[in-house]
Amino acid sequence: MTTISRALVREVAPGISQIDLQFQGLEQVIAAYLLQGNGEAALIEVGPSSTRGALDAGLAAAGVSWNDMARLLVTHIHLDHAGAAGPIMRAHPRPRISVHPIGAPHLANPDKLIASATRIYGDQMESLWGDFAPIDPARIDEVEDGVAIDIAGRELIPYFTPGHASHHVAYLDRASGMLFTGDVAGVRIPGMAYVCPPTPPPDLDPEAWAESVRTMQALDVQHLALTHFGVFDDVKEHLAQILPNLDDFIGQGRSSLGPDGDTSDLTDALQRLEKSQIGAESPLFAQLELATPAYMAALGLKRLLKKRGEVG
Ligand SMILES: [Zn+2]
Repeated sequence: MTTISRALVREVAPGISQIDLQFQGLEQVIAAYLLQGNGEAALIEVGPSSTRGALDAGLAAAGVSWNDMARLLVTHIHLDHAGAAGPIMRAHPRPRISVHPIGAPHLANPDKLIASATRIYGDQMESLWGDFAPIDPARIDEVEDGVAIDIAGRELIPYFTPGHASHHVAYLDRASGMLFTGDVAGVRIPGMAYVCPPTPPPDLDPEAWAESVRTMQALDVQHLALTHFGVFDDVKEHLAQILPNLDDFIGQGRSSLGPDGDTSDLTDALQRLEKSQIGAESPLFAQLELATPAYMAALGLKRLLKKRGEVG
């Protein structure tokens, strides 16, 4: 576990703070959002186990003890969002966890998740993500689409928002007008205008994603709180970018996938496309690449195009 000497916590709305998890030592890659109110706390996203030091430091800086923590809520079970959930709940008896029904079995038994991640990350598993642990099913609550959760003095409404992942949930805090979008509103680093669609395997689904964008647009919120990374207020312009940019990625997949299924040309092409959007020399490329690695995006696009029969 990386040792973190300083906490990076910022209040983004009354009772809502962003904790920078300083993933791989870089700022503005993975966020967790801390909710405080009514004498209790909750977290939306917990990050991977490799960033638990930063999470603990952030909570301490915000004056929150794990005994105050009533609930963890994850947008989906990918390791950069929920990897730490098991070890946290093993260490701390109080919190319950909210997740999409499709994600729940994988929190109770992460073996399949770990096996598929190990196929991709190999010996980098430990340094990237840290450890895992199963969660007692009795402490897991499956969220229902549109059914409010009372937590930390507020109502959070989960919305099923598949596309990036089949089991993706966005959480709306109506009081602040803030929508916690996980990965369904894309990846955008502060200082970037570009919204990058994260397209990893295995269940990238552009049609479902389009429907989810319409769902988010209809909510008419004032702020988007992205896990990668931060709060953006140009909601209309931001949301309008997701589908065209996703189309560009899919088009790039069609033109750059090697005949033998090799993804290295596509990986390079996606990186060129991103740099053409954010500037070839942009220092933000490092954060973007950590949040949504181009080789991972290429693997997801390949799987999608194979499923559609567009490539061999
Ligand atoms: Zn993510």
